[in-house]
Amino acid sequence: MKILVTGGAGFIGSAVIRHIIEHTQDSVVNLDKLTYAGNLESLSDVASSGRYEFEQVDICDKAELARVFVEHQPDAVMHLAAESHVDRSIDGPAAFIETNIVGTYTLLEVARAYWDALDTEHKQAFRFHHISTDEVYGDLEGPEDLFTEDTAYAPSSPYSASKASSDHLVRAWRRTYGFPTMVTNCSNNYGPYHFPEKLIPLVILNALSGKALPVYGDGLQIRDWLYVEDHARALYKVVTEGEVGETYNIGGHNEKANIDVVKTICALLEEFVPNKPAGLAHYQDLITYVTDRPGHDVRYAIDASKIERALGWKPEETFETGLRKTVQWYLSNETWWRRVLDGSYSMERLGSLEKG
Ligand code: NAD
Repeated sequence: MKILVTGGAGFIGSAVIRHIIEHTQDSVVNLDKLTYAGNLESLSDVASSGRYEFEQVDICDKAELARVFVEHQPDAVMHLAAESHVDRSIDGPAAFIETNIVGTYTLLEVARAYWDALDTEHKQAFRFHHISTDEVYGDLEGPEDLFTEDTAYAPSSPYSASKASSDHLVRAWRRTYGFPTMVTNCSNNYGPYHFPEKLIPLVILNALSGKALPVYGDGLQIRDWLYVEDHARALYKVVTEGEVGETYNIGGHNEKANIDVVKTICALLEEFVPNKPAGLAHYQDLITYVTDRPGHDVRYAIDASKIERALGWKPEETFETGLRKTVQWYLSNETWWRRVLDGSYSMERLGSLEKG
């Protein structure tokens, strides 16, 4: 089958594409605008497989989307394209409204028109899989509570509110038009090729260069962490074996306070890179508490029993094994992250240099 992956140059999208090319016979069309978060260098291992094609398209561009559907005739869509960084959504929500809400609406309309025109067999087999976050549920009150697929939505940030809106649109397209959608809501991902503005890669790279390790507030906010390759495997299972109209929560059974995540990374670096920047006794000495993010949710935790029961998916990595692999990956892939840090990976930047 041919899968159209939106946002395939991003962190999770690129893991999904690597998974499909390396572990299945399916082919992929990667549709991505290449914002600052899109990095085709994350796909260099699979780009020449003969089953991979790339389209630089904005999901808000209806005409271009329609062209891509007609030219590539996909059997399924995995929709990951989004503005994804909570802090950026607080500083500038407009792009989040535009891409996450208007873009998802535009994609739904183009995909529905394409699906409507398919013959009966292809129409029945077609799937539209919307990838979302557990942040749509807001935060949990009791220490034992878990988000289930039935938890009411209560998003706190412009990012999570925009993702909640897109989830509602996708479900409405199922209910109103019979369009074959499914939704997944996942906890925090981490792993290789993660953009260094996010907590785990930021801490690894700052520690290596002796810079401060910023921790919001008291650092006691709890997140459930999932290794990105476990997420990619779950997403492929859902799009190929999941039930139309269903929602699946995906999580790692790894609830950790942010401060413990930072301390664990410091301990791994003590083991792997004992030669520290000049004057530094312990990586932990770099920890710096900073003013908390406004509206910061305290605790997220996922009940992933439905996908485990229905589709037989389980995470393979524990937080300890996944974090160890992640730190090792950053230590052995310096070229990738140096090109991200200096901006040379970015088509957006290349474009502005050409214009300037
Ligand atoms: P990311 O920011 O790393 O990647 C997003 C990708 O979308 C980039 O390649 C970017 O160029 C592309 N994109 C942005 N706007 C676009 C547009 N208008 N048109 C086409 N492409 C566009 O994000 P990620 O962390 O890989 O997240 C992927 C999806 O998974 C998002 O929908 C996010 O909400 C969801 N999610 C993320 C996490 C997480 O921990 N990162 C957890 C759960 C769900």
